[in-house]
Amino acid sequence: MKIHIKTYGCQMNERDSEALAGMLIEAGHTMVDSEEAADVLLFNTCSVREQAERKAKGKIGYMKKLKARHPDLIIGALGCMAQRLGNELLNELPHLDFVLGTGQLHTLVPLVESIRADRKQVVAVTESAEVLTGMRTHHRHAGSEEPDFKAQIAITRGCNRFCSYCIVPYVRGREISRSREDVVAEARELVADGAKELLLLGQNVAAYGWGGNVNPPPSGVSPFAELLEELDRIPELLRIRFTSPYPTYFNDRLIAAIAGSRTVCHNIHLPLQSGSDRVLAAMNRQYTATGYRAVVAALRAAMPDVTFSTDVIVGFPGETDEDFRLTRELMNEVGYDNSFIFKYSPRPGAKSAADEDSVPQEVKEERNALLLEDLKTRVAAALRGQVGTVQEVLVEGTSPRNPERWSGRTGTNRLVHFLPVADLKPGTLRQVKITRAGGVSLFGELL
Ligand code: SAH
Ligand code: SF4
Repeated sequence: MKIHIKTYGCQMNERDSEALAGMLIEAGHTMVDSEEAADVLLFNTCSVREQAERKAKGKIGYMKKLKARHPDLIIGALGCMAQRLGNELLNELPHLDFVLGTGQLHTLVPLVESIRADRKQVVAVTESAEVLTGMRTHHRHAGSEEPDFKAQIAITRGCNRFCSYCIVPYVRGREISRSREDVVAEARELVADGAKELLLLGQNVAAYGWGGNVNPPPSGVSPFAELLEELDRIPELLRIRFTSPYPTYFNDRLIAAIAGSRTVCHNIHLPLQSGSDRVLAAMNRQYTATGYRAVVAALRAAMPDVTFSTDVIVGFPGETDEDFRLTRELMNEVGYDNSFIFKYSPRPGAKSAADEDSVPQEVKEERNALLLEDLKTRVAAALRGQVGTVQEVLVEGTSPRNPERWSGRTGTNRLVHFLPVADLKPGTLRQVKITRAGGVSLFGELL
């Protein structure tokens, strides 16, 4: 059958969709780019904010017309919203053929085949640990937007942190880690298939291997550090990135492993959420602004060139001007190179949904705009500071906006444009002298 997948939300969902595509192809199906050409339409959904759910529902609703024209079309809702709403989603969107939750994704192939045979609607939302080992396939080299030499590996699933605003622990279940042997074997296969850069994924990757219940971890021990060290020894692997780590898991052992690594990039995504201790406590984030600053300082001491990115929520219930000022101050102090700002969205089932969504929408918008403005100013200044330096970049290929130029990324995750030379290959490391800074990227000359 011809299958089209549309993905909403986070990188973990992107990775799940890629694994599902791999599974479907192994079973003899074909992936297609357009909805009209498909026999099966899959929507891999997100529940983190209401807007993500609204978008997916709108799109699935719209597919009713297509189904009226192609009665054999099979339509499935997968992932977090499917898990959260289950049967309710079938009532709301009765032209759906199936609802497949986060714990059952690995059963997609036989499910689609059974629906083709008997056309019965199915809701499968039981939690299952098998999804952990059952989502190992890949579908790379498929003209995706990501360069071919990049690959992703999910090392944990689920989350045990229960931040008060967050739906993830309810829709993705308890945190579980894959075995080190399994992850390393998958990494070796990907590298043998041409991968040069691995992105390790999980809701809290730094808790990898702790069995879900240690926070903060004792000093001197970090299963995630051990995993990084083992991956570091794969000879043709050039770079490792990971997302997201919860700040309190950066102990001395993990920081030393990152700093001493050949491949781990000096760019850390360190979700902040708020710079106010009062709000952090209400969010059930188990650190203070001071504790967070200490993690940043320890990472910087070990890697002076390290850059940071973060996630922040504006307009959490009760967030005052002073709370927001503290967030803004901390963000400018850390000097993030990138930040993902989210306007608070109450999620039914998450603890904070019981509190009044007290910050007006226009205040959320205003705070969002201020943080984005700060980011722009900071990034432009940080990039100007790079002019004259020599940076190692992993070559990606032609620049999207100017095909005469090529681009690559530094380990610190900055995009650099340069004129190509003969024999230049994507997926190789090159030295570039930085000659000019733009607003969001750098320009330079290959050495
Ligand atoms: N596990 C990851 C993040 C998962 S969700 C981590 O802890 O970093 C991605 C981001 O969405 C979160 O970091 C948070 O900033 C944001 N988010 C989660 N729930 C939200 C909500 N109810 N409203 C607004 N933003 C939210
Ligand atoms: Fe959600 Fe917090 Fe878990 Fe991240 S760590 S997924 S924000 S509960």
